Amino acid sequence: MTWAWRLLEEDCTGCGICADVCLYGAIEHSSEQPYPLGIEGPCTGCMACVEECPFDAVVVT
Ligand code: SF4
Ligand code: SF4
Repeated sequence: MTWAWRLLEEDCTGCGICADVCLYGAIEHSSEQPYPLGIEGPCTGCMACVEECPFDAVVVT
């Protein structure tokens, strides 16, 4: 099964917590980017980003 990470930009503040908690390198974030970027492939569906996002701005399917 392939997992996909998706951002709801209207709810995202760009805080970067999701990228910090992803242990699989599936979320890229730097201070130059307004929002994190999902990287295709490495997501394992662990849901850490969904659980830790304070703004419910991440969807993993
Ligand atoms: S944790 Fe949530 S609000 Fe923060 S950058 Fe990630 S998706 Fe956006
Ligand atoms: S579900 Fe887990 S592996 Fe996938 S992007 Fe979120 S934290 Fe990373």
